[in-house]
Amino acid sequence: MDDTRFGRRDRRGDWRPDAPLQVGPLLDFPWSPLRVLTWLPGYLLPWNALFFVIATAVWLWLTPSRETLASLSWTWILPVLLRNMAIVLVVFGLLEWRLYIRRAQSNRFKYNGQFPADRPSDVFWWKSQNLDNALRTFGLGLPVWTAYEVLMLHAWAVGWGPWTSLAESPWALAAFALAIPLIHETHFFLIHRLIHVPVLYRWVHSVHHNSVNPSPWSALSMHPVEHVLYWSDILVHFLIPSHPLLVLYHLQVTGTGAVVGHIGFDRIETGPDRAMGTHAYAHYLHHKYFEVNYADGSLPFDRWLGTWHDGTAEGDARMQARFAARKARMNRRRT
Ligand SMILES: [Zn+2]
Ligand SMILES: [Zn+2]
Repeated sequence: MDDTRFGRRDRRGDWRPDAPLQVGPLLDFPWSPLRVLTWLPGYLLPWNALFFVIATAVWLWLTPSRETLASLSWTWILPVLLRNMAIVLVVFGLLEWRLYIRRAQSNRFKYNGQFPADRPSDVFWWKSQNLDNALRTFGLGLPVWTAYEVLMLHAWAVGWGPWTSLAESPWALAAFALAIPLIHETHFFLIHRLIHVPVLYRWVHSVHHNSVNPSPWSALSMHPVEHVLYWSDILVHFLIPSHPLLVLYHLQVTGTGAVVGHIGFDRIETGPDRAMGTHAYAHYLHHKYFEVNYADGSLPFDRWLGTWHDGTAEGDARMQARFAARKARMNRRRT
């Protein structure tokens, strides 16, 4: 498929889409139901719908019974960890295999023209971004994810927290489910902005940013302190009446969903003249420029702070002007 119909490639081989990124319209005033309705399909499809399907399958077939969850035991905790590892292995692994190992569409629609495997770097364990990222994901990230999941499922089983049932509160739970990706993005924006404070950045978040040219394995490659902060948004289910299915969906949005911003390609080709949009661009720009797009643009946090980058040349110019103004401010302070 000809990617130059949808964007342009510069001399370094990096590709950028022509269409600017849009911020979600939920908090645009005057509020427009039409704008929200046209935005909604992209909010739900394909990713959040996929994560809901995975969560439902996990709830129906791959979660122990309430009686089992009520007493903590390695005999069910270990299988839950292995089940989560298997989901990540399949979803991240399929994307990695198709786009980065088989390189099925070469670098068409790839933001960064290079492949990480072709560029060994000292910042990674064994100089390999893939090995480093995969080991941090499975060795550190998945145990933290599973620990939060065990806490929440056990809490439900023994009745700690304001749990409800699908029969009791179907509409409230549906509204909560609809809001979960927004709750996740709000929490992520807050902790992400926090770990960009210089001292925390150096100590914690720089590990994630080692992947300047991210691939799916980069998604959950973090310092363990970031893992603990990252999944802590699940504790919101202790505040709002919830159901374990929503906990599992939320963990999918946070855990498996991290892959979305790290796909590295704008579109995945699905036929000779067909391709699926990935929604990866906003977070890719964060990996490229570090101080833009702390959130993904479903909500306008970055626009409020002046850190939104819409991926266009004008967006570059606005970012450069902001960096220059900050540099001038710092120079003035020094003199
Ligand atoms: Zn990232
Ligand atoms: Zn960051």
